Formats: sequence, C-alpha cells, structure tokens
Amino acid sequence: MTDRDSNKTERPTDASAVIGAIEAGGTKFVCGIGTPDGDITDRISFPTAQPEETLRRVVDYFADKNVQAIGIGSFGPIDLRSGSETYGFVTTTPKPGWSGFDFLGTLRRSFDVPCGWDTDVNAAAYGEAIWGAAQGLEDCVYYTVGTGVGVGVYAGGRLLHGLLHPEGGHVPVRRHPNDGFAGRCPYHGDCLEGMASGPAIQDRWGVPGHELAPDHPAWEIEAHYIAESVATTILLLSPRKIILGGGVMQQKHLLPLIRRRVAELVNGYVAAPELAEGLDDYLVAPGLGTESGLKGALALGIRALEPRSEY
Ligand code: ADP
Ligand code: ZN
Repeated sequence: MTDRDSNKTERPTDASAVIGAIEAGGTKFVCGIGTPDGDITDRISFPTAQPEETLRRVVDYFADKNVQAIGIGSFGPIDLRSGSETYGFVTTTPKPGWSGFDFLGTLRRSFDVPCGWDTDVNAAAYGEAIWGAAQGLEDCVYYTVGTGVGVGVYAGGRLLHGLLHPEGGHVPVRRHPNDGFAGRCPYHGDCLEGMASGPAIQDRWGVPGHELAPDHPAWEIEAHYIAESVATTILLLSPRKIILGGGVMQQKHLLPLIRRRVAELVNGYVAAPELAEGLDDYLVAPGLGTESGLKGALALGIRALEPRSEY
C-alpha cells in the first residue's frame, strides 16, 4: 500500500451518483453527466463564446441534473497551483475575454459540490488512463493535434503539474529540410503547434488537411514534426504509452508515418520491447475515440469525490 492509498478512508463512490463533466475547448464546450463507471448518459455541446455567456449555458445545463461532483478539463493556460489567488482562472490565453476569467469560481458560485480542475489534455490523458488505451498503466502522454497542439501528461499515477502545467504543444522542433513555412505560433513562430496544427497545414498548403490526398507531401512533413516531439517525449519522460488524438489525427495514414519516423529518431537507443515491435501498440489512437476529453473530465469529477483528491 502506498502513502496515498493509506490516506484514503473507506468511502467508495455511490454507484448511482451523477457526476458532471465539462470539456471546455477553445472552439466548443461539451457538458455531460455520467456514472462512476464511466458511462456518459447525457450531453450537450455549444460554441465557446464570451466567458459569461458560455458559463451561463453551462450552469443552465447542470441546473436540474443534481450532480454530486463536476470535473472540468479546460483549454488554457489555466492556474492549477493549489493556494494560488487565481487558482481556477484561465490565465494568458489570447482568446478574447477569457484571459483572467475565474472559470472555477464562477461554476462554484452555482454548484456547491467538489470540482476536479485540470487542462483539457491532462483530462484526456486521465480518461485514457482510467478507461482507454492506457488503462491500468501508471503513465501515458496524450497529444491533441487540432486547432492547437496540446500535450497532457499522466506520470506515476498523477497528472503532471509544476510551475503551471506542461505546454508540450509549444516545444521547439527541428525544421523539415523541404519546409519553407515560417510557422504561425504568435509566441514562437515555428514551434510544434506553429508547424503542425490544423491551421498550420491550411496556411502552408492553402487548403485544409482533410482536402489533401494521403500521398500528398504534406503528410510526411506533418509526421516529421509530430515525431520530433514524440521522440523527445519518449526520451524525456519514458511514458508507457503515447496516445495521439485531435482532428488532424483523423487522417488514418498519418499514424504509421509518425511511428516510422519516431523509430528512426530513437534508433534503438531505448531498449524497451514496446519500442522494438514497430510501436503499433505503443503509439496509438485514443482508446476512447473522440470521448477522451469528456470522459477524462468525468473521471476528474469522480476523483474529486475521493477524500483526498490533491493529486
Ligand atoms: P479543436 O482542436 O478545435 O478542439 P479538432 O481537434 O477537431 O478541434 O481540430 C480542428 C482542426 O483539425 C482544424 O484545423 C481542422 O482543419 C483539422 N481537422 C479536423 N478534421 C480533420 C481531418 N479529418 N483531416 C485533417 N484535418 C482535420
Ligand atoms: Zn508556440
């Protein structure tokens, strides 16, 4: 038994409990309710507008649901530092109106229940660890490659926080030799997100990714940038599983290209059988399909009901 286990008292979550879940994305919000087993029983989705209006819709949704806890996986950056005066706030986002918004406090003024609060990608990593592709593992890393690139880290049974939280979408990556695209990150130009997000694909080629044929050179370049970052993650964190989600990863031919390039970059240096067998079971699509974020938020809500939920 670990220290953490011994601090838990016997209070299993009531199997009939109703738990709220919020997947708060920069483009859209998904709210749902679910069971402690991970079944989502109802949901609603709406575009992310100004914060007050958006939270009004969230509060309206949960008003008659009688939830016993709520889990939130939010776009960010967000403040997760316990004890911070701005804990629960969205911090430096360029998204109009949201910088400095007290997300968690606004919710708590309407619902006096335990709340779990983390980044959207940490929530997705957690969902995958509890019910998805990394079920039963003590660590995994979850990438979303979509409007932005985000990376969530579950390590040693905990979601990784620190100064703030990992911002793996913005790591520097080596440039592909045939790529003259300047990059579009407002902070870093040609960081991973600047080179590999869905909008970066569209800017580079003049059409969105879903209009590019599988044999278009775009995909080899896309795989290059994602593989740069995935190889770094393997070497830096040694996670037991890496999961790639998000809209761009709907291109099913992309994952094998990334696996091949990751294998070249690691080049046999990390002597783990998971990496020697073609990475097919190591570098994978989400086990929860497009539900990793919402189910992860549900799992955060369930965890918030535990007597000691400071993970
Ligand atoms: P978000 O990141 O906003 O939560 P998504 O993960 O769906 O949402 O990402 C949207 C981005 O992914 C857009 O830039 C879009 O062009 C791109 N995208 C979505 N679906 C596909 C697809 N099937 N093929 C390639 N790109 C896609
Ligand atoms: Zn950046």
